[in-house]
Amino acid sequence: MTVTASVLYDLVQCPQRVALDAFGDPANRDEINPFVRLLWERGALFERETIAKLNQPFTDLSKAGKNDRERLTLEAMARGDTLIYGGRIRADDLEGVPDILRKEMGGYVPGDVESGRGEEGGGDENDGKPKAHYAVQLALYIDILERLKLSAGRRAFVWDINCDEVAYDFTALEGDRLWDDYQTALTEARAILAQHTVPLAAYSSVCKLCHWHTCCVAQLTAADDLTLIPHLGRKERDTMQDSLPTIAALAECNPDGFIQGRKTAFRGVGPDRLRLFQTRAAMLKASPPRPYLRAPVSLDLAPLELFFDVEVDPLRDVCYLHGFVERYQGNNATERFVAFFAEEPTSAAERDAFAAALDYLAAHDQAMIYYYSRWQSILASPGATRILLAQRQSSGLIGGAASAPPKSVSVFSTTTRTIAVRRGSCWTALEVLQPRPSD
Ligand code: SF4
Repeated sequence: MTVTASVLYDLVQCPQRVALDAFGDPANRDEINPFVRLLWERGALFERETIAKLNQPFTDLSKAGKNDRERLTLEAMARGDTLIYGGRIRADDLEGVPDILRKEMGGYVPGDVESGRGEEGGGDENDGKPKAHYAVQLALYIDILERLKLSAGRRAFVWDINCDEVAYDFTALEGDRLWDDYQTALTEARAILAQHTVPLAAYSSVCKLCHWHTCCVAQLTAADDLTLIPHLGRKERDTMQDSLPTIAALAECNPDGFIQGRKTAFRGVGPDRLRLFQTRAAMLKASPPRPYLRAPVSLDLAPLELFFDVEVDPLRDVCYLHGFVERYQGNNATERFVAFFAEEPTSAAERDAFAAALDYLAAHDQAMIYYYSRWQSILASPGATRILLAQRQSSGLIGGAASAPPKSVSVFSTTTRTIAVRRGSCWTALEVLQPRPSD
């Protein structure tokens, strides 16, 4: 069977999905998730907008029929066309549809238009890292071009949501690893498509949007699979399952029996994580299951509390809402929602909303702030607040005298169902039980 870029994309997310897409019973597929549809539509729109803005001539093959497109692409490259949009390339068992093929010294370099950031992580002072699911697709295109003897070298690019061209250099130090990762992914994909390997389902964050969700969750639940434990993923399950094949087995075990010094019998799982997983397993098997405290928690009453959250549009990489619920004297009847909204998806509007939120915080500097994620912690942790407030004061974004930073409590809730409460530098975790798939 042919290995395409989308097969490799899926493989990076979940090998089981590649197997089910190829050999699963279509009757077991869920409807495509509406959010996934939205992402596709937004991605297609962004690609059209990006291509429409190109201020250089290009060969447009995007509307060519599937059967003609490969031939037309080869003809365009033989002519030496500078920029080819929507071409199709194929060699041996590999096939790809790079958004762009660009003529450079010695051949062609592939590129994709992506409606997300071209890299992950990074910031003002350091570069981000290549995204694995972009890298495997780009590497596949390069591999095909190499087999066709039309490659300009092991490099590619992404035109991303910020209108940046992000280079993917597979010959750099980091790039060597990326190329090795591609080779590993290609070998795994071939083995799955040849049915030499039969991957198992493993519950993870990507399952919620997957069209095999219902089918896999039923299978995992019936198997009492360890990946239903928050933060216990495929790798951990695979290393633990010979000794502890089910949640029940983990719940009943004595984790100390698997611990020797600072290691456990399970590669990649340290003693603390093993104990945590065992406690979570026991919690999931309790009847009825209940959340529990891992350390005492006592929250001070404050005359004014602010419950803070932000909303981000991941496709445009814009934080468009800073929302606060005010509550006085612990009285729910006093609750009032205050929002700072970026009316346009632009960095200027985002900046204005952020500055207004900081003004608001500066004006409520005695409030206790409760916040819910890492983003908010950037703004609400006392040190960061002080720094940001000072920056905004020095830049004239906010007025008033320097204020003492507000107290803050992070109610950090994730799909792990762990809620951590931070008081100063001290963290306390509450385990909240809800089987993940039923969210
Ligand atoms: S539901 Fe999860 S485990 Fe199943 S195929 Fe999809 S991503 Fe993989």
